[in-house]
Amino acid sequence: MSRSTVATRHWHLTEDGRVQCDVCPRACRLHEGQRGFCFVRMRQGDAIVLTTYGRSSGYCIDPIEKKPLNHFLPGSPVLSFGTAGCNLGCRFCQNWDISKSREIDTLAHEASPQAIASAASELGCRSVAFTYNDPVIFMEYAMDVADACRERGIKAVAVTAGYMSAGPRAEFYRHIDAANVDLKGFTGDFYHRVCLGRLDPVLETLEYLKAETGVWFELTNLLIPGANDSDAEIDAMTRWVAERLGPDVPVHFTAFHPDFKMLDRPHTPPETLARARRIALGNGIRYAYTGNVHDPAGQSTYCHRCGGLVIERDWYRLGAYRLTGDGQCVTCGAPVPGVFEGPPGTWGRRRLPVQLGRPAVRYSGPGRDRRP
Ligand code: SF4
Repeated sequence: MSRSTVATRHWHLTEDGRVQCDVCPRACRLHEGQRGFCFVRMRQGDAIVLTTYGRSSGYCIDPIEKKPLNHFLPGSPVLSFGTAGCNLGCRFCQNWDISKSREIDTLAHEASPQAIASAASELGCRSVAFTYNDPVIFMEYAMDVADACRERGIKAVAVTAGYMSAGPRAEFYRHIDAANVDLKGFTGDFYHRVCLGRLDPVLETLEYLKAETGVWFELTNLLIPGANDSDAEIDAMTRWVAERLGPDVPVHFTAFHPDFKMLDRPHTPPETLARARRIALGNGIRYAYTGNVHDPAGQSTYCHRCGGLVIERDWYRLGAYRLTGDGQCVTCGAPVPGVFEGPPGTWGRRRLPVQLGRPAVRYSGPGRDRRP
C-alpha cells in the first residue's frame, strides 16, 4: 500500500465474489483493482481501500460565510480543503476539475491530520472545512482531521451533498460540528438525470441530522434556469424543509453559472433567487438567503421575532451586528438559532491560499476568541 492508501470498514463481500462499498447509496460492486464511481475508493484484495488519505488539492482560508454558513461563528476564517473525486455526477458541477480529477497523485498536497489541525490553529481559524469535493468519499481522512482539530478546540465543517448510507453516516457525523448540505433539487427526476443519483437518501440524511445529531446545518439550493427553478419545485422543497426539519434551518438559494456539461443554460437571474427566497419565507422558513449575487438585503439575517436586522452582510463581509455573544437579538432578546461564541470575526471576504507548514498570514482578530 502507498502512504495515501488506507483500509476502510464499510464494505462487504457479495455472493458473486465482488466487494461492495457501503459508504454511499451507489453501492459500487468491485472486482480486484477496480475503482468505484468516486474513483478514490477501490478494491484491493478482498477489501475496499481509500487511496487519497492525507492528500489534498490545496488549502485556502475562506470566510465561513462562503461555505455557506451564516449562523456558525459569523465572520470567522475557516481553513478549507478538498481531495479529488465525487460520488455524484452533477452535469453542472462548479468544481469539476477537482470532483472529476483522475490525477490526484500529481495534483495533491500532502498533510497529516495533525499538520492540518496545527496549521488551522496557527493561522487563527476557528474551523476546518472539507469542501470543494464531498468528504463522504474520504470520510476516514476527514474524521481523523476532525478529531485532531477538536483536540485544539477547532471545529469541523462538512460541505456535502448528503449522499451517504445510514451506517457510515452515523459514524461520520459523530465527528462533525457543522454542515452545509446541498439539496440540489426536489424531484427524483432531477437527481436521476442531472446528478446521476437519487433524492431520497439526501432527504434521509437531512432528517437524520435534525432528529439524531447536534450538528448545526444549513441547506444550499443552486437554482438552474429551466431545470430546478419552478415555483412548484421551490414551494414543495421549502414546505418539506419547514415541516420535516423545522423553520430554523437556513436555506441558501445560490446562482448557477454555466459550467462542465451544462454550458447551454444562462446564469441564474437575481430575480429567480429573490423569488425563491419569497416562497421560502412564505412557507415558514425563517432564514432564507440569496447567494452568488449582489443582494445585501437578501443576504442579511433578520430576527424572526421582531424583524430587526441582526447581521448585515454584503457577500461575505459583515456590517452591522446586533446579536449578543450567545446569539440573542439585542432588540427583543429572541435567540437566533446557530452557533455563536462571543463577538463576530473580522475576516471579511478575503480568500487566502496557504501552504501548510509555511503559513502566509497570522490572524488574531476577534473571530478566534472563545468564551471562557
Ligand atoms: S463511496 Fe465511492 S466506491 Fe463507495 S459506493 Fe459511493 S461511489 Fe461507490
